This record gives sequence, structure tokens and C-alpha cells, in this order.
Amino acid sequence: MIRGILFDLSGVFYIGQHVIPGAVEALNRIRASGIPYRFVTNVSRMPASRIISTLYSMGIEIDSEHLVTAPIAALAYINKHQLRPYILVHPELEYEFSGVNVSSPNAVLVGDAEDAFNYQRLNEAFRLLIDGAEFLALGDNRYFKDQSGLCLDIGPFIKALEFATDQKPTILGKPSADFFSAAVRSMDCTNNEVVMIGDDVDTDVNGALSAGLLAILVRTGKFRAGDEMRLPNSKAIIRNDVVEAVNWVLQNSG
Ligand SMILES: [Mg+2]
Repeated sequence: MIRGILFDLSGVFYIGQHVIPGAVEALNRIRASGIPYRFVTNVSRMPASRIISTLYSMGIEIDSEHLVTAPIAALAYINKHQLRPYILVHPELEYEFSGVNVSSPNAVLVGDAEDAFNYQRLNEAFRLLIDGAEFLALGDNRYFKDQSGLCLDIGPFIKALEFATDQKPTILGKPSADFFSAAVRSMDCTNNEVVMIGDDVDTDVNGALSAGLLAILVRTGKFRAGDEMRLPNSKAIIRNDVVEAVNWVLQNSG
């Protein structure tokens, strides 16, 4: 029985600037049902406040207490472990980390930096990592889809640093089991009572299944034919879009 929902945002509710048909109504049905939900996103090209205002301009209204982002999780991790990271993130995101001590770095934090992924910045990160700095990443997504098409995400850049240094990063957003579990706990649920709905077969669906959640893969956003074949077993559920996914949840919640 489903007692809580984690929703991915990009590719599930919108693609670029376009809302997926029926997505707002589907969210309203969940709100009316009283089932708790959270939005869990690895989007790291903008701070949480801008995610909310951007969604609002598209007609998708969400509250900050329902939004769990990889940068928020990263900030908590950095504070808990008292790290001084070299921060290679998108310029739009830098002020989220403005309170962090970055002098003599003992860690490297990498997000989807877009154009800030230049040789000089990557090489600074590389030199710190090979000297033993702790390797942190906001996600390891391969690609995402915006209005221009598929776009390289953080994953390929992480892999370049991993290849050069033989260090594996700690992933602080999806598909980290800790990240999913923290979102689940915030709803007073247990992992096996919660379903993750996403368009990324690795980060959303296989990640959630590995953490002991249920998961629904939607055929929107970055979904590509054949992604179903990358699901490990019959546990994953596939639906055409968030509207059908919400129908499934409402039929399977008590
Ligand atoms: Mg997505």
C-alpha cells in the first residue's frame, strides 16, 4: 500500500518551459487525496528559490517545504563533516554555498556547472582530488532534456575526474539511498511505503528500487525507447506519463 510519493520534476512535470499535459491536474488530485509527497530533484543549475519561481511561472505551484534538492543535501553534508570544499557548480547556484568555508580546500564539490565546466576549473578540481581531497557530487545523471534537446548532465564530467584520479565521488542527490531515505523520513513513512515517479531509469527508478522504494518510470522527458530493458526486474512499473502514474498511485493507496 502506497503511503507517500516522491516526484522527480524535470521530465515529469515539465520539459524546458513546457508543462506536460495534465501534470498540474494530476498534482492537484494528489493534494486532494491527502497522500504526502515531496519533489526530489538533482537540478543544480539554479537555487531552490528559482526552481520554485520558475515552476510558478509555468503554472506549477509548489511549496519550499515540499522540495528536496541535491544542493540542500550537499550543504547539510558539508556542515556535518565540517568540510572546506572547492566548489565547482553552476554560477546561479554559488550563493547557496556562500556561507561555506572554502579556504584551503579538503574536498571538491561538483554540480552541473554548464559553461563553468572549463579546462581550468576541472583541472583545479583534478589537482585537489589527486592530492586526496574528498570527492562530492550533486548527482551522476548522464543527460537531461530541455527545449533544445538532450543535454550533457553532471555524470560525464564526474566520470572524467574519476578516470583521472581513480577516486569515486560520494553522490549527495539521487540515486543516493541516504537522499531518498531522508525525503521518505520527512513524510513519516518507511521506504517500502513510498513510490518514486521519474523519467530517469538509472537515477530515479533503479536508484529508488535499490533504496527499497517502489518506482514508476514515465515515458516522458528523457525517456528513450529501450529504457525499460535497463530495469532489473518486474518490480518497476512503467506508465506513459505522470497522469497515469498518479492514477496507479491512487488505485494502490489506502
Ligand atoms: Mg527528470
